[in-house]
Amino acid sequence: MTRARSSSDGQNNATTTSGTCATCDAPALVRCTRCDAALCADHAPLAGYLCRACEDAYTKARVKLTLWPWFLLPFLSAFTYLALNLRELWTAGPYSSRGFTGYPFFDVLIYMVVAGLLFGSLGRALRVAVFNYRFRR
Ligand SMILES: [Zn+2]
Ligand SMILES: [Zn+2]
Repeated sequence: MTRARSSSDGQNNATTTSGTCATCDAPALVRCTRCDAALCADHAPLAGYLCRACEDAYTKARVKLTLWPWFLLPFLSAFTYLALNLRELWTAGPYSSRGFTGYPFFDVLIYMVVAGLLFGSLGRALRVAVFNYRFRR
């Protein structure tokens, strides 16, 4: 599939063309950068978007994308890493003035969950970014 990209018009995510629109019979002005369909002014995608058919295909593919492993793996990695490295805190007695809860056990648990969520979200966002990059170009 050829994916022509406009060099001069960076605002609109489509290239200029001639002929008639793929959706109606009006004269075509632009082409979808993904599927190369000719489109008139009314059916031209907005800046940063693809044609209607490509946007529908994107939505369908995006919904099917399996994201939970991309969250779970970094989550468990960070969780386990902290669990092992802060091992001595698990059995330590309560502190008098440090920490969130006053109990090392619960503090470590908070660190682990927060770090897990952070890395999990990062992994998930990375997967979506790769998907967008592959699909939208
Ligand atoms: Zn049209
Ligand atoms: Zn398209």
